[in-house]
Amino acid sequence: MVNIKRLVDNFVNLVKIDSLSMQERQMVDALTSILEGMGLSAYEDNTGEKIGGNAGNLICTVKGSKDVPPILLMAHMDTVTPGNGKTPVIENDIIKSDGTTILGSDDAAGIVCILEALRVIKENAIEHGDIHVVFTVAEEVGLLGAKNLDYTTINAKYGFVLDDGGQIGGVAVKAPSQNIIDITIKGKASHAGIAPEKGVSAIQIAAEAISNMKLGRIDHETTANIGIIKGGQATNIVCDFVEIKAEARSRDKNKLDSQTAHMRECMEKAAEKYGGSVEFKSELEYPAFVINEDDDIIKILKKAAAAAGLELSLEETGGGSDTNIINGMGIQAVNICIGMDKVHSVNEQIKIDDMVRAVEFLVEIIKAVE
Ligand SMILES: [Zn+2]
Repeated sequence: MVNIKRLVDNFVNLVKIDSLSMQERQMVDALTSILEGMGLSAYEDNTGEKIGGNAGNLICTVKGSKDVPPILLMAHMDTVTPGNGKTPVIENDIIKSDGTTILGSDDAAGIVCILEALRVIKENAIEHGDIHVVFTVAEEVGLLGAKNLDYTTINAKYGFVLDDGGQIGGVAVKAPSQNIIDITIKGKASHAGIAPEKGVSAIQIAAEAISNMKLGRIDHETTANIGIIKGGQATNIVCDFVEIKAEARSRDKNKLDSQTAHMRECMEKAAEKYGGSVEFKSELEYPAFVINEDDDIIKILKKAAAAAGLELSLEETGGGSDTNIINGMGIQAVNICIGMDKVHSVNEQIKIDDMVRAVEFLVEIIKAVE
């Protein structure tokens, strides 16, 4: 049923388009005309204006004739860097980049799998309910597209995001929430040779605080990391200012809160000890989601995997995606593995056969909705 040549051609053409986050204009235009060619009309929301990008999310609804709950299919249009001038190379069953850029299967593979599935259901006159299709912008820079998406026309009960690596049949059903943490430590400047005792070193405060901090893997569902630390002007000045950027993640909100509080406490204690001060800001980047075995969407996935001859594997991920945001909007949603591999690197690649099987899985999902 899947037209492999059409799928691969579509993929190759899309990844050749430059579509860095906030610069998805060409991609939106290309997808609009592809959807029009399929007899569908797409509409672009005003997310571009809201976030300072040059394009908005693309939204399209495929009307169904079957009286079943509407679903949402979703993939993102933006890529990370180096992502301009991508030249896909096909070697047997594998598509990769020419080694100078990422490939962009994250998430063009998700987009083409959705498009191919829609073509397959149309060509084979497969009965289905309403299908909302959303291609988001700016996923890679904080899920900004999904966060600003115009949900007014989307009344989906279930969401299927195609944006996960790994084996076909794998589905992420749990993902953490994340706090983004900004810390500013203030000390007191003084001449390091003449009057060091009159200074308060912000670097020393940071060092003590961080060395007392639990970081890395905290437990099976909680992690924390100091990602950026900046400060200091010269060796002869006691450093009076350090800026730190950090994060904490957990699939359990209470654990996230307590890890964040622990990081704050380490900072405050060290600042107090040395006579400096600390400003600690934490913001929820995205909420966690947990889909349970007995949730309805799992029944759909089980039925679809069996029909597609796949082994369904329910997985927990440590990463955030658009799936977190749409679950937060009340749509029961999962992130489906489509085979993309070594993403966010110049070694990114994808197997054609994996994309084909992802389409087959998606077609069976559409059929299994009830
Ligand atoms: Zn992605």
